[in-house]
Amino acid sequence: MIVNAVLPTSIVGSLPKPSWLAEPETLWSPWKMQGAALVEGKQDALRIAVQEQRQHGMDIVSDGEQSRQHFVTTFIEHLTGVDFEQRETVRIRNRYDASVPTVVGAVSRERPVFVEDAKFLRRQTDQPIKWALPGPMTMIDTLYDRHYKSREKLAWEFAKILNQEAKELEAAGVDIIQFDEPAFNVFHDEVQDWGVATLERATEGLRAETAVHICYGYGIKANTDWKATLGPEWRQYEKSFPLLQQSTIDIVSLECHHSRVPMDLIELIRGKKVMLGAIDVASETIETPQEVADTLRKALTFVDPDKLLPSTNCGMAPLPRKVAVEKMSALAAGADIIREELAAARA
Ligand SMILES: [Zn+2]
Repeated sequence: MIVNAVLPTSIVGSLPKPSWLAEPETLWSPWKMQGAALVEGKQDALRIAVQEQRQHGMDIVSDGEQSRQHFVTTFIEHLTGVDFEQRETVRIRNRYDASVPTVVGAVSRERPVFVEDAKFLRRQTDQPIKWALPGPMTMIDTLYDRHYKSREKLAWEFAKILNQEAKELEAAGVDIIQFDEPAFNVFHDEVQDWGVATLERATEGLRAETAVHICYGYGIKANTDWKATLGPEWRQYEKSFPLLQQSTIDIVSLECHHSRVPMDLIELIRGKKVMLGAIDVASETIETPQEVADTLRKALTFVDPDKLLPSTNCGMAPLPRKVAVEKMSALAAGADIIREELAAARA
């Protein structure tokens, strides 16, 4: 398999799980297996996710998040200092109330969380692999903190823990480590004060490429309702992009297609690699290759061709499996159109 050096494609993170493993088309879906059967089931699902990405033209491969229930909670469940029995209701991303676990003591990571899964993924493919972790700010925003009583302090603690995990993921052969920080679109003052700094702490000393994924949130009604209040132009990236442009993070993953984000905001991260969302994950309509190509072509006004990574707007877990694979095919076909145009322009 030759990996495209030009416009390498990838998904942001999750793929739908097979119906024998978990209830399809829902977030937080409970597992349908237990014990050893569940371990085996997750690995089988991961193998399928890799095969589907390869067959449908993804150049950078991920685990499709087949072994986790939720992009934030599953990581936190493996840490000490957080009590999942003691729950409090808090406002998440200033948007919706949820019953969340409580930080009751110093947080720490006694053992690796995803490292064995990452080693398993590494054995499945020679293609570059990408692994997603939650970002520090998004993690603290899903908890009630009775111990540190400071969002910033807790974020620094999580950054240290994430750095330990990231270093072991790198040693397991992960090429790109991605941090999901949808909270960066909400808490602009904190992003400036300590959000980007804690993210950089999480990536400290890594040789693997680092990415931050910032989206507007998907899969739950509260996110859809919030987006309806944001008006015709979504300019939230305007706050975080100049800070990220100055940061040590290599890649910025953003949503774009069918989103109200003005394309010219990408100029604010000039010099960084851009993982551009050219696939709408909130609609089951499959994009045409031309639609994908149009989005990528427009983005090339603001990002150099060697820095553009075509991707999806966010994870695809809530979609039917057939739709998710067809969307990957559309993404690959759209990227092919632009690769040909770039080659023709060079000739
Ligand atoms: Zn997302």
